[in-house]
Amino acid sequence: MSFDVTGSFGFARLGALKLNSKVVEFPTLMSHYSEHLPKAWSLGDRGHQIAMNYPPNFLDPQINPEFKGELVFIANFLMQRGIREDILNEQLEKTTQEISVALNVLSPKQAVALTQPSSSLEFLKAVLQKLNDFDIKKIAITNLLPFLTNQRKMVEFIGTIRTMVPIDSLLFLLSPVPHTLIPLLIYAGIDAFSDGFATIAAHQNVFLTDTSGLPLTELEENLCSCPVCQGKDNLSELLETVEITDKSKKMAIRGRPLLEQHNRWIFTKKIRETRNALKRETLRNYIEQTIQYDVFNAAALRLLDQQWQDWLVSRTPTWLETPVYSITSYSYSRPAITEFQRRVRERYQIPSQKKVVILFPCSASKPYSTSRTHRFYQNALENVPWKKRGYLQEIILTSPLGVVPRELELVYPAAHYDIPVTGTWSHEEKQIAVSQLESVLSSFVQGGGAVVAHVTGEYLELCAVTSEKLDKAFIYTSKNQRPSSLEAVAQLSKMLNNLVADLPPLSPYYPDIENIRAIADYQFGLGIGKEIFPNNCRLKGRPPYPLRILSGKEHLGVIHPSTGELTLSLSTGTILAEKKSYYVVFDGKDLQGSTLFAVGVNEADPLIRPTDAVVIIDKSQKMLAVGQAVISGKDMVPLTRGPAVNIKHKI
Ligand SMILES: [Zn+2]
Repeated sequence: MSFDVTGSFGFARLGALKLNSKVVEFPTLMSHYSEHLPKAWSLGDRGHQIAMNYPPNFLDPQINPEFKGELVFIANFLMQRGIREDILNEQLEKTTQEISVALNVLSPKQAVALTQPSSSLEFLKAVLQKLNDFDIKKIAITNLLPFLTNQRKMVEFIGTIRTMVPIDSLLFLLSPVPHTLIPLLIYAGIDAFSDGFATIAAHQNVFLTDTSGLPLTELEENLCSCPVCQGKDNLSELLETVEITDKSKKMAIRGRPLLEQHNRWIFTKKIRETRNALKRETLRNYIEQTIQYDVFNAAALRLLDQQWQDWLVSRTPTWLETPVYSITSYSYSRPAITEFQRRVRERYQIPSQKKVVILFPCSASKPYSTSRTHRFYQNALENVPWKKRGYLQEIILTSPLGVVPRELELVYPAAHYDIPVTGTWSHEEKQIAVSQLESVLSSFVQGGGAVVAHVTGEYLELCAVTSEKLDKAFIYTSKNQRPSSLEAVAQLSKMLNNLVADLPPLSPYYPDIENIRAIADYQFGLGIGKEIFPNNCRLKGRPPYPLRILSGKEHLGVIHPSTGELTLSLSTGTILAEKKSYYVVFDGKDLQGSTLFAVGVNEADPLIRPTDAVVIIDKSQKMLAVGQAVISGKDMVPLTRGPAVNIKHKI
């Protein structure tokens, strides 16, 4: 039996549990309902199912050797709240001994341990440490229902488990939670859900819908087209049942199996939708939709982002092609956004020869430079002589990213986000933009550079606040007119020419090298771009096709316009390897095939996130290959199965 992780998105993981010829995709559902194994849970929502036997009686020291399940509960940790600490510790030792005995006849891969919320996080950690020691990676959770009204505790509990156990551990939630919480709980790290809530709802004559549930009496229309509801007769049978319920309660049972089937179908739909979003790498968008109809999700998402941000970021892919819909304030704290802001603050620097920064408003179409308004702005810049254009730096003001230097406009999520353009900014959006702008401009204005704000409307306020904070007067070129109007563009053009008039000519301006180095810095760290890419580098190609980085005839890498990611050639990878940045150490004789598996990884840069470009080196730091990470650097080392890096080029 093995579980292979094939991708991660926050604490959510995609993977497959394999047993002989059976394969169950995760995340998934588990059900009591099974004709063949009446005493088991069955795992899986389609095709194959894997059985998991019931937990032994509470504190039962005897483990029944005649199990029929393929996964077996071998331990039930006493950790209920309100029990004295000395009793808990004593019982922990006993349970540990029971596990040792059970593992004489069972593989740890088959073993499932039953846990539950404890009043002490330290005790929970002690239990998890035992499981790690035994290499038990299947953890069932019960008694979670009280936490459905205490999101803080719930997020703390699941997050603690997720960050203590290896990434390929599976968490089975036995408590019957509503289907509407499934996407959020998957993002928090749960892998399998009981569908027991479908039965509970059916017993209360509640018809589950995508976003909640309705009493049958409130069902005026046939809302569903599942196999049960498709036939009109079936639905009328459900409704008829309600009418006769008052006369004889027993009669209500008539429609209940159908209602239960429908409710189960809703559960199945929910888990598959979430898994689909995980596969399409749109899980975060999907979850942000669920906060619209459930306050539990809203609070839990905010707390997850607050409490576990570094972990969520480290397990979220850096480079995606999928759009980012920024719909609510919950999007401001999503990893893709906060990480972009952090990298702009820490890894971006305005190039030293720049003397004038021009601030532009963002545009609805992305990348910005393809928009109509930004093409007008380009006209103003092109009126500056070629040998002086190198003094100009463009920066775009936007929400919720704050600022986007022109060099990074292709980089995910700068070219991928979409926000309803209303022209008004919330207080939080303004704060983000001001602090990002202040950070990017601060050393530039200290060096005496000029700042031209070619903006209007609410952008003016952002600029005024930042100008005051930096104690630097900005020059305004479109205060009372549309920035893309002919008059405003002419005014900007005149101002820029004035500002560079007395400066000596530079060598002819090629923006390519600035773009390449800014993206390399964004990926690998400030200053790395300059060390890897010489001045004469040029980009060849046109989006949407890959842009090849050439130095003379030598090929040094590629920028992929769909994500903005830069991938290295073997020669530039060698320089990165020497710096021991974004490296993975291969521990083996021969690097074969197109995948480096986690079992062969000895050490990895903890900064590596899924999809990051990495270099593979041997123990003596010799360069072996360049590739793209599948999982985070932190997870590659402890993991013993599954892919770690997709190899692109080998020495
Ligand atoms: Zn239905």
